[in-house]
Parts: sequence; structure tokens; C-alpha cells
Amino acid sequence: MTKHSDCIFCKIIDGEIPSAKVYEDEDVLAFLDISQVTKGHTLVIPKHHTKNIYETNDEIASTLFARVPRIANALKETFQPAGINILNNNGEAAGQSVFHLHIHLIPRYDEQDGFD
Ligand code: 5GP
Ligand code: ZN
Repeated sequence: MTKHSDCIFCKIIDGEIPSAKVYEDEDVLAFLDISQVTKGHTLVIPKHHTKNIYETNDEIASTLFARVPRIANALKETFQPAGINILNNNGEAAGQSVFHLHIHLIPRYDEQDGFD
């Protein structure tokens, strides 16, 4: 797996930075976003470092997205949201702040953000 020593998400994969893990396998890690937009806001990342959608490849992108349904279902079971947004930011102008490809899973609730 390619890792970048100055990448926050590579450090999370390596366990150098702690995270609240939602799902993990050989290729993919999902963990709660440190700054939750809604309850259960989760990031799904490939373990192989690529910057964003422009610099990834078919294999990494397809493996990454292939895991999203099971992670979305795990969030559905845990947090019981009314729906979920799945999104991906690429480039600073599009809101990307961490330059390791990631997908946001943002559970949506009938009322507000799901926090009590
Ligand atoms: P972006 O803005 O690049 O699409 O999303 C990056 C996300 O990573 C942000 O929502 C931000 O809150 C989250 N984030 C940044 N640093 C950390 C961290 O150290 N731990 C966790 N769990 N999330 C982080
Ligand atoms: Zn990385």
C-alpha cells in the first residue's frame, strides 16, 4: 500500500492517529468524521494513498465504492437515519481539505442533525 508520511488519513490507517472505526478490511477503512455534520458522519477511505478522484485509478475507486453499501447499511442499523448523503470533494475549490481520497457518508434525520 502506498502511504504518505505527511498525510493525516495515512496516519489514521497506521494507527498513529486514533479514530473511531466503523469498518475495516484489507483495502478500505471507514471511521467517524472528527467534525460531525450529523450523527454518524463517516469517512470511507482506500488504504492505498491517492490524492483525489483525478489521481486515483479504476481499481482503487471501484474497491472503495464497492464497500459503501455495506457501510451505509451498518450506519443505518446503528443510527437509524431517515436517509443518507454520499459525497466526495475534489480540489480545494470543491471543499477538499484532506488530500487522501475519501467519501463522506452523512446520515440524515427527519429532525435536525440527529444529536440529542
Ligand atoms: P474534505 O473537506 O477533505 O472533503 O473532508 C475531510 C474531512 O476530514 C473533514 O470533514 C474533517 O472534519 C475530517 N478530518 C480532518 N482531520 C481528521 C482527523 O484527524 N480525524 C477524523 N476522524 N476526521 C478528520
Ligand atoms: Zn494518505
